[in-house]
Amino acid sequence: MKFHPCRPIALAEPVRRPHSMVPISSSVIVLEHQDLPPLTVKVVRRRRKRLSLVVETDGLVECRVPLRCAKQEIDLFVRSNESWLREVLAKQKRERRRPRLRFEVGAEHYFLGQRYRLVQDYEISSIKIVNGDLHLPAKADSPGRIQTCLEGWYRRQAQRLIDYRVDRLCAQYDLQPPHQIKIRKMKAKWGSCSASGGLCFNLWLITQDLRAIDYVIVHELCHLKHFDHSPAFYAYLGSMMPDWQHRQGLLV
Ligand SMILES: [Zn+2]
Repeated sequence: MKFHPCRPIALAEPVRRPHSMVPISSSVIVLEHQDLPPLTVKVVRRRRKRLSLVVETDGLVECRVPLRCAKQEIDLFVRSNESWLREVLAKQKRERRRPRLRFEVGAEHYFLGQRYRLVQDYEISSIKIVNGDLHLPAKADSPGRIQTCLEGWYRRQAQRLIDYRVDRLCAQYDLQPPHQIKIRKMKAKWGSCSASGGLCFNLWLITQDLRAIDYVIVHELCHLKHFDHSPAFYAYLGSMMPDWQHRQGLLV
């Protein structure tokens, strides 16, 4: 099955620097946007046939172009991929500031963008939210059991909420509904879309603000029409959810 990972690293190439590939000359393109910080792209001319964009792990962006490529063509290529670039950079930034989860009483966890403290409660048999705290049942008496209990609860909440929001958003934006919605624990992505029309969402999406959850859902629904991160995909996404970049910025 062809699988679209929603991790738009696909355009990036592995970093190989043999002697013959040493950059011959370079310049810089700065992408400016009214509501967003400027984005600097280093243009590197090399002996190569195609243009490509590479986002390094430290957030530096390079556009690698053939030696005789016209400036206008480079400019158009970079600008038409600006949405993709900003998405990759935002994701890198989120990953750098994500704290390590602790599964113990007193630790803080998120649900729908709100922070809750874990509290042991011997009176209950399943997780409950009480006065801003997340109450754990007696059986969650070790880090491993707290994690199992919390993840099971997140999974049920995520499946219920995402099923409901997908229905609502498909109706609101007149989108084709997916034939299947799965919830999985994923390390590097919030959602994914299969070529057969099924969507998969990260279990931890339920910890995020509802506006950001809706953004991830609409992003994946748009892949049912555009199975890539092309400018056409972002134009389609923007026509439906004009504030998607703001919503994406809420993901932590
Ligand atoms: Zn995507």
